[in-house]
Amino acid sequence: MSPVAETAPRPAGPSVPVGPPLLELRAAVRVHGDGARQVRALDGVDLEVAVGEFVAIMGASGSGKSTLLHLAGGLAEPTSGQVLIGGTPLEALRPAARAALRRDTIGYVFQDLNLLPALTAAENVAFPRELAGIPARRARQEALAALERVDIAELADRRPNELSGGQAQRVAIARALVGERRLLLADEPTGALDSATARDVVTTLRRAADDGLAVVMVTHEARLAAWADRIVQLQDGRVVGTTGGEMLPWGA
Ligand code: ADP
Ligand code: MG
Repeated sequence: MSPVAETAPRPAGPSVPVGPPLLELRAAVRVHGDGARQVRALDGVDLEVAVGEFVAIMGASGSGKSTLLHLAGGLAEPTSGQVLIGGTPLEALRPAARAALRRDTIGYVFQDLNLLPALTAAENVAFPRELAGIPARRARQEALAALERVDIAELADRRPNELSGGQAQRVAIARALVGERRLLLADEPTGALDSATARDVVTTLRRAADDGLAVVMVTHEARLAAWADRIVQLQDGRVVGTTGGEMLPWGA
C-alpha cells in the first residue's frame, strides 16, 4: 500500500459556468426623466450571469451599459422588470436588507478608481469592510487576503501615488472582491490604462471569475472582451447580440 494519499485528477477542459445564475435581469426597463424628455436607458433586458462566469458588455456610448450595471448592483431600481441576486428579487427586500446585500455581495470597479490618497493599499481595501462593521484587525486580514488574490500582497503598505496605474487598478479590484463578495461589476475598468496594463487588469477579472465570482465588465475593446465567456452587445438599451455562452474557449 502506498502511503501517498490518492487525489482525484482535475477535470479536463475549460472552466465552464456551473452554478445557478447569481445575477438575473428579467425584462429590465429603466426610464429617465418624463414627458418629451423621457429616455429609455434600458429597454427590456434579459441577462443571466452564473457564478464562475465572466460576461463582457459592449455597445456605443449611451447604449445603456452603465445603467445595466447600476441596476445589477442595486444602485438604481428598474422602472419595470426585475433584478434578482442569488434568486432573490431585489424589490422584495426591505431597504436595510438590500443595502446589506449590496455591501456584502457586490463589488464595483470604476474607471475612475476612487482610491483614497491618504490611505495605503491595504487600508483602502479594508475601508469598506470597516464601514460594514468588521473589526479593524479582521478587516485588515481580509484586505491582505484580497490583495494576495490579485497578486499584489507586497504592495499593501504603499499609497496610491506610489503605485502604477495597473497596480492601482488591482487595488480597486481587491477592494471590490474583499470579504465574501460574489458579484463583481466593472464599468470600463481599463479605460484609462495602456494596453499592456489593461490586459493585466482583464486577466485579473478573468481569474476572479475562475475563483468563483460572477463578473460583469463593460468595455469598448473587443480584445479585452475576448477574455469573457460571453459578450453581450447593447444598442439603444436593448441586447442586440450575444456571442459565446456555452463553452467559449477563451484560454485556448
Ligand atoms: P453608456 O454607459 O452605455 O454610455 P448610460 O447607461 O450611461 O450609457 O446611458 C444610457 C442613456 O440613458 C443615455 O441616453 C443617457 O444619456 C441616459 N441617462 C443615463 N443616466 C441618466 C440620468 N440620470 N438622467 C437622464 N438620462 C440619463
Ligand atoms: Mg457608461
